[in-house]
Order: sequence, then structure tokens, then C-alpha cells
Amino acid sequence: MHFNSHFNDIAQSYLFSTVAKKVAAYQAANPDKKVLRLGIGDVTLPLAPAVIKALHAAVDDMSKKETFRGYGPEQGYDFLKESIRGYYKSNGVELENDEIFISDGAKSDLGNILDIFSGDNVVLVPDPVYPVYVDTNTMAGRKVIYMNATEQNGFLPMPDYSVNADIIYLCSPNNPTGAAYSKAQLKQWVDYANAKNAVILYDAAYECFITEDNLARSIFQIEGAKTCAIEFCSFSKTAGFTGTRCGYTVVPFALERDGMSANKMWLRRQTTKFNGVPYIVQRGAAAVFTEEGQKQIKANIAVYQHNAKIIADCMDELGVWYTGGKNSPYIWLKCPGGMDSWQFFDYLLENIQVVGTPGAGFGANGEGFFRLTAFGSEEVTKEAVRRIKKLLQK
Ligand code: PLP
Repeated sequence: MHFNSHFNDIAQSYLFSTVAKKVAAYQAANPDKKVLRLGIGDVTLPLAPAVIKALHAAVDDMSKKETFRGYGPEQGYDFLKESIRGYYKSNGVELENDEIFISDGAKSDLGNILDIFSGDNVVLVPDPVYPVYVDTNTMAGRKVIYMNATEQNGFLPMPDYSVNADIIYLCSPNNPTGAAYSKAQLKQWVDYANAKNAVILYDAAYECFITEDNLARSIFQIEGAKTCAIEFCSFSKTAGFTGTRCGYTVVPFALERDGMSANKMWLRRQTTKFNGVPYIVQRGAAAVFTEEGQKQIKANIAVYQHNAKIIADCMDELGVWYTGGKNSPYIWLKCPGGMDSWQFFDYLLENIQVVGTPGAGFGANGEGFFRLTAFGSEEVTKEAVRRIKKLLQK
């Protein structure tokens, strides 16, 4: 017996554990200081009342013989697919129900989708990036190449025709940089992928934070995307489902290579290895799309957007360079005074007890940058910003 030796190739990520250790050590040495956490990528507001009501009703369904549900369709119930289809339609995208697959979140499907791709595909990933794309491909032994996201390109790398890639990961609005592609920029990526016979794996987990019309909410708003893209989305940040777990993946019928259909392969993969998302959770997710649900989730998103604006305004005032904040819950800032990511982390923790995430933990190009998130309360965000201003305004 041999284990998969590619697991030896995965870089150990000490990012969040090192952050936690440093904060715990600081707090132990300074028990009287109040530490403010702007490093978390998790939501803090509870589920919307409309979602809770639907979850309760679905629990009741399970208690009665007439409405009890056992195994559901692996790819999700039609009632939820229909709601998602309506949402895409409202953004000008026509989908068939069977192009939509309900998942237990974007992370699982971002990893699982690799089952349908050959092991010798070359994978193109932005640096810095959400680590899941690199690690899932490295586990499978695929070659990963990087494209540079930098201050010069606003952390939005564009296609380079001299590079031949088979699988391209795009995440917009991006984690960790908060940068978001315009429709015009995405059109260039779609043209590149179609020209190279490549596929774009498009992570739209933060789509709900988009406020500007020239930015894409879905890659399928771009002409030509249905022949070269798969989209991953999630209720995690949209509706606070990080602990409830539900998302969806769109695999267009038109995505075919060598006479094989990505949609048919993904259906086959899911029916083989997945037994679907719980009925109760899918009912909760469907409530997100009701009039009441939309109103309530938008009110929650507005709280995070307001926090993001408070942080972004602070950076504007201080003259600190940053991306994000406007169409994203993340503010990705350039560490002032030429500090590196970890120096700035220590500087903030020791002087003003504010915790963020060092950019170096997301890739080599993240060095010298720092991520703050808007998922805290308004009170904590305002106090953190007050302290940051006082420290840096010298
Ligand atoms: N994609 C990105 C870019 C994320 O930042 C995250 C979570 O932080 C996910 C996907 C995972 O989302 P889910 O909770 O749906 O698995």
C-alpha cells in the first residue's frame, strides 16, 4: 500500500494558527487589553428570520408521514433550483434547471470538480489567492502555475497569450484582495479560455457584495462564457450560511471538450459520490429568494458593506493604498512605512490591539500587504478604525 505522495507537496499553511497563537500569547501577557478582531472571514450576523421560519417548517415536514423526505435528488430539489434560476434571470442570465447543482458549499465543489478533469491539465492560479485552489490541485498531482496579482495591475491579473493553461481559477470579488473584475475584463478572460480550449473555474462566493453595474455578478453575464466556464457560488456570505452549509455550482450544457459534456460528467460524479444537501437546509436556502428573504439578507449585507466603507474611508484619509472595500467585505491594504506583512501584524497587535491577516499567508505577492475584514460588528469596526487612525496619523 502507498499513500498519495502528492500530500507531501502541499505547503503547510500556518497562517491562521500563527495568528491565533500570537493573539493568545499577547492576550495572556496583557489580560487587561481589549483585542479587536478584523481578521475573521466568517459572518457574525444570524440567519434571516425568513430563513429560520422556512427551516422550522421543513423540520415539521420531516415529522409527518405525508411530508417526510428521505433521499432527495443528488443535484438538489427543483424548488431551490427554480429560485436560483430566477435569480440568474434577474441578472440577465438564462439557465436550465439541470445546469444548476445544489452543493453543501462552494469549497466542496471547488475541490470535487477536479474529478472531471484529466490529471495532466496545467492549472493557472492568481497569486495571492484563496489557498483551496492550489492545495486541491497539488493533492491531485497537477502542475500549478501562477499569474501575478500586484499593486500595478490592481490585483486583477489579465490573460497572457504566451501562457498555455488548461484550468484557470478566477475569484471575483476576490478573497483576499477584494478586487473585482469588470465585465470588460472578464470578456478578455472568456475570449482567452475559448481560444486556448481552457476552462475557467469561476468563484463567485462574494457576488452579493457587488454594488457597481460594470462589474460581473456571474461569469455567465459575459458572452461566450457558457462554452468555457463553471461557476461556484454559495449562501455562506450571501445569507450567513457558513455553518448551515449550502451553495450551488453552474455547469452549462454548452461546455464540451473532445465530445464529452462537463454537465453530464458532473452529474455522473455527483450521483456516484454525493447524496445531496439536506431537505431542511435547501428549504432554508430557498427562503433567501423570497421577497421577505431578499429584504432581510440585503439588510445584513448592508451592515457588512457599511463596515467595509468605514475601513476604506479610514485608508483614504490616511493615504494608504488598498483594493476592495467597495464591492467586497475585504480591504487589502499596503502596509505603511515599508513594513512586511508580519511586522505590520505585530505593530497593530502590540500598539492598538487590532488583529488582521498578513497578506504573505496568501501567496508570495501578498508580502507587504494586509487583509482587514468587514464581518465584525459596527461597534468593533469603528473602534478599530479609531485606533488605526490614531496610530498611523503621525
Ligand atoms: N470561495 C472563497 C473565495 C471563499 O473565501 C470561501 C470561504 O471563505 C469559500 C469559497 C467557501 O465557501 P463555502 O462556505 O460555501 O464553502
